[in-house]
Amino acid sequence: MKKIVGLACLCLIALGLFCGNARTIATQAWSQPVPGSRDVRWNEGAPDCAASRQDPLQVHAYEPQTFILRQSLCASFEGNFLYLLIGSDKALLIDTGDVADPKQMPLAKTVLGLLPGEEHTKLPLLVVHTHSHRDHRLGDPQFESLPSVQIVPADLESIRAFFGFTKWPNSVAHLDLGGRTVDVIPTPGHHPTHLAFYDDRTGILFSGDFLLPGRLVIDDAAAYHGSAVRVIDVLKTRPLTHILGGHIELDAAGHAYRMGSHYHPTEHSLELSKEDLLALSAALEGFNGFYAQHANFILSDPIHNLLALAITAVAVLILLVWGLRRLLRRRRRTTG
Ligand SMILES: [Zn+2]
Ligand SMILES: [Zn+2]
Repeated sequence: MKKIVGLACLCLIALGLFCGNARTIATQAWSQPVPGSRDVRWNEGAPDCAASRQDPLQVHAYEPQTFILRQSLCASFEGNFLYLLIGSDKALLIDTGDVADPKQMPLAKTVLGLLPGEEHTKLPLLVVHTHSHRDHRLGDPQFESLPSVQIVPADLESIRAFFGFTKWPNSVAHLDLGGRTVDVIPTPGHHPTHLAFYDDRTGILFSGDFLLPGRLVIDDAAAYHGSAVRVIDVLKTRPLTHILGGHIELDAAGHAYRMGSHYHPTEHSLELSKEDLLALSAALEGFNGFYAQHANFILSDPIHNLLALAITAVAVLILLVWGLRRLLRRRRRTTG
């Protein structure tokens, strides 16, 4: 009898373990991402913005609960991309762009217009930033006095406290928008406050200035590489459809537009892929510390480049002075 009871217990334990594992596997299984439309042609700006009237903000519905907003290149050469994700409990706005004045850039009005609900029953909105560079947060004041809007300040202390990062940058936080979860991944390297956002509804990684078709400006190469490795690791278990960054700075052939240009004819596509993320990690590993052109992005360390320029300028100056002194001495000798 003891043997039978023991056997039954073992079976129950085994069954429990199996059920436990099945439950774990079930919670880890990712549902198929909701597909979206990429059928959009972004405004290319203009060679002479004064002579060309442009809408300040272009809105593209990727799918009914995900919007891509692009600030006009004539309003700011940065041409920032902002993202609005709508859940059943709240909405999330990633970045507020490069223009503060609501008359010039009616961002808050446009975003509120996209939210479900009437004026006083609008869905609560959470405003976050990929990082604290000005072109990603200058629109914040437009949201400051609005009811049901919360802005997460872009400084590191506020970010860590709000998202509850226990081990920055080696932990991942989660935002529950209601039927839609967004993973918040620390990605310092371009800037110490940088975050990337993975959306489980669409399978999109919103990558800010960490990865985009343009210049990836490096502040800390080791931290940048650590971030690339971290993102690859987080995405190992998640379906990835697209990587959408904060700007487009390359044309379709992969050439960078002039810095500060308000005109981007034949832009590179906004979407990057997992291959680009893997390429970024490899590129950072072999980076020469100054500049490297890759198929869909450029690595650049402006501080190193400036230092190299300054050292070259000083070396040229020393050579010139040395040459001049030699010339003067020779002349003195011949005339003396
Ligand atoms: Zn930046
Ligand atoms: Zn930027």
